[in-house]
Amino acid sequence: MKNVGIVYQDIYAKHDTGPHPECADRVIHTIEQLKKNQMYGENRIAHFKNIDPRKATLEEIRWSHSNILINKVNAAVESTIKRNSHEYIDGDTVASPATFDAALYAAGGNFAAIDAIFSGEIDRAFALCRPPGHHSNKDYARGFCIFNNIALSVEYLIRAKKLNRIAIIDFDAHAGNGTEELFYSGLEQGELLFFSIHQHPHTLYPGTCFVDEIGKGKQKGKIVNITLAPYSGQKSVELTFKQVILPMLREFKPEFILCSAGFDAHHKDPLTNLGFMDQTYSYIIQELGKISDEFAKGRLQCTLEGGYNIKHLGNSITNVINSLADDKPVFNEIDDFSTGQKVDILEFTENKLIPQIKAIFAPYWKVFH
Ligand SMILES: [Zn+2]
Repeated sequence: MKNVGIVYQDIYAKHDTGPHPECADRVIHTIEQLKKNQMYGENRIAHFKNIDPRKATLEEIRWSHSNILINKVNAAVESTIKRNSHEYIDGDTVASPATFDAALYAAGGNFAAIDAIFSGEIDRAFALCRPPGHHSNKDYARGFCIFNNIALSVEYLIRAKKLNRIAIIDFDAHAGNGTEELFYSGLEQGELLFFSIHQHPHTLYPGTCFVDEIGKGKQKGKIVNITLAPYSGQKSVELTFKQVILPMLREFKPEFILCSAGFDAHHKDPLTNLGFMDQTYSYIIQELGKISDEFAKGRLQCTLEGGYNIKHLGNSITNVINSLADDKPVFNEIDDFSTGQKVDILEFTENKLIPQIKAIFAPYWKVFH
């Protein structure tokens, strides 16, 4: 069994978005669920550890973001305090008085987990933080996101921990466009392999991150967009992992695996049209766990992104944290045609999407030669 750190503090529930899908109830419900399953709090089973977040410094935030964005978020928060109401940073990203602090603690919570992994206190971690981050780029907070927690985690691993090869798997239903934009030309130092597995951008926000966006310069061939057809389910996920993601990870040999862990690809999610089930998330983490054991000393860390069906968000996160511990999933849904296993969609994944991805990446990866 692995020791798994769960990063949480009340500040994550104080980022108040009002009547909004990305709401405080997401983490409040999930932490209650984790307590019930003896995974968090005083009665937790010994291999689950509580990790307190710290505040990221502005110097650290500037690794990925400009003063334009920092000042914009600060000004929005100042205005919410003066006017005692919410403030929109973009069309769907809301600020409240605690937003700036919550965003600093979201990034810093990921740093604290990385520190705990490197000190040997834990093997793996889940940061149950908000606001989320993967849509934010250098100058813009957008799509419910403020600071890009996963991008900042990459910078922290390279700059503070001196690692050289990091992999990100973003399995949120929406493309990790902010992360892609931040790393499109690569890192100053070190190497990044970035996968975003998401619902096809013609059918969902943000409308970018197509399979032919593969990075440029030294990053060319290391940005991998897997654009699933609507209603794709667990079998499509298994095919893309077996045929694309796992072989590329084995060739890349990451020293640390990070996940942008969004749960809105679940078939019950109100904002999207994919067909993942509670146990699909266990499958993903089990497979990444094996890669992390093989190449990365077991180091695997998730940060929360989306997921808007509160019940299944809690179930799926419970499954992920159990899988991080190398334990079995707690929640298993009945697999039927409502959960995205339709034959025509599987055929599309197997006979169109995967061959297209292999052809695009063949010049850069021996596994596809
Ligand atoms: Zn999402």
